[in-house]
Amino acid sequence: MEKAKNLPAKYPRLVAFVEKSLKRFPFIENYIKSLPSVRKQIDKEYDAIMASLEKDVKPYRGKFDSYPAIPAKGLSRQKVLADMQKMYQREKPRWKKGFVSGAVYHGDEGHIDFLNRVYAINSQTNPLHSDLWPSIGKYEAEVISMTANMLGASHVPPERGPICGSVSSGGTESILLAMKSYRDRGRALYGIKRPEMIAPVTAHAAFDKAAQFFKIKLRKIPIGPDFRADVKAVKRAISGNTVAIVGSAVTFPHGVVDPIEEMSELARENNIGFHTDACLGGFILPWAEKLKYNVPSYDFRLPGVTSMSADTHKYGYAAKGTSVVLYRGNELRQFQYFTTTEWPGGLYFSPTIAGSRPGGLVAAAWAAMISMGEKGYMESAKKILKTAEIVKKGIRSIPELRILNDPLWVISFASDSLDIYRVMDFMTQRHWNLNGLHRPACVHIALTLRHTQPGVAARLIKDLKAAVQFVKTNPSEKGGNAPVYGMAASIPVRSLIGDLLKKFMDLNYKV
Ligand SMILES: *Cc1c(COP(=O)(O)O)cnc(C)c1O
Repeated sequence: MEKAKNLPAKYPRLVAFVEKSLKRFPFIENYIKSLPSVRKQIDKEYDAIMASLEKDVKPYRGKFDSYPAIPAKGLSRQKVLADMQKMYQREKPRWKKGFVSGAVYHGDEGHIDFLNRVYAINSQTNPLHSDLWPSIGKYEAEVISMTANMLGASHVPPERGPICGSVSSGGTESILLAMKSYRDRGRALYGIKRPEMIAPVTAHAAFDKAAQFFKIKLRKIPIGPDFRADVKAVKRAISGNTVAIVGSAVTFPHGVVDPIEEMSELARENNIGFHTDACLGGFILPWAEKLKYNVPSYDFRLPGVTSMSADTHKYGYAAKGTSVVLYRGNELRQFQYFTTTEWPGGLYFSPTIAGSRPGGLVAAAWAAMISMGEKGYMESAKKILKTAEIVKKGIRSIPELRILNDPLWVISFASDSLDIYRVMDFMTQRHWNLNGLHRPACVHIALTLRHTQPGVAARLIKDLKAAVQFVKTNPSEKGGNAPVYGMAASIPVRSLIGDLLKKFMDLNYKV
């Protein structure tokens, strides 16, 4: 998603071609795509697009030595570090100065240095060898417990708990693990052979990934005019094969809390698991609630919520590479575990998807949490939410823009009179890195501590005003990413877009 923003304006040529072909050959898309002449033309178009992108994706070619194979003689550490420093310095200003949506959530020099020192101490550790590094076991257990208590575990009576979990490599792995656990529980306890999960269309793509990886049928639920899941549709989608229902707090696209209370009650009445995806909101909402912002219920205080994900590497302010998945009851967590007793390599067990795991990152998550403290998290949330109020007020003062619903700090906006992607393109020229979303067409910014620096919110609004003015006065200007989104919305052959994204990933892997 992130990288796809770079797709160029050449895309419409491909789309035009495909649409023309579809008109001439109104057959099923796979058949069309497999026709040799069509295939050749499509590949040609893909290649042209990728060639035009290559420069942007590989800016260091010719500027730094490249190593397609291991160098015969090792380089000096000094040279390695010097090159890295140069690239680091080139990339740093954009996120450091608060031009980027999400991505770097804390980013203060002192905080980063501290986490780096923690990592340095623990860089050789591996929780797989818990006997060698019991320290990491301690850190992990405490990260899980601290996160659980932050998300309502301390209010859960013993017969409805305990709330337990694992540290994973990120939000996606937390979600994969939870969905796998529900699938396996469904089969083991209820004999469900064709498992289904129910998730709103706004649930993170990681749920689609889980459905694909683990062969779970995903029933998508529409959202209402408030951009929250349609509870009636959830009710209709429940079947004897449903193993899990999903809601987000907050949703990635529009930053709203789904009607988790009603949804999780439906799940509970039907003896189905309910996962609250608090990857994005888990380390803000608890503090927002204490700061008296209007936060609907979403955590383990709701008896129907049986699992949650919360990302330490987002608003937990840890280094990248950790998240927490939580479960109500140890029985459910056990469906996540892997064991094998037959392998000649010995009795083997591992709780998550990885085998070996970076203990240094677990240590960094632990260090981030205990050094921030409740007070640190509270003050950070306060700053971010205050900044959000300024940003929302600023956007509302621009008549051409419209904020979707009333989000707390992940703010998406659309326009009824302008092409919002062209507004985004203008912002990109002013160094901003916002997220382009679709269905419906809008753009969002996830505010972080980077945006709470003096002057950043004002600069955002000033540039947005200039962007709107520019698009208004230049209604037919071409170029940028706007056509990509426009076409992506209209193109009938979805798999062509998927293929294009795959090519883009290939491109990233080029030396
Ligand atoms: C970021 C995010 C995820 C996935 O997290 P990764 O760490 O990128 O794998 C899942 N759900 C929501 C709501 C998110 O914002």
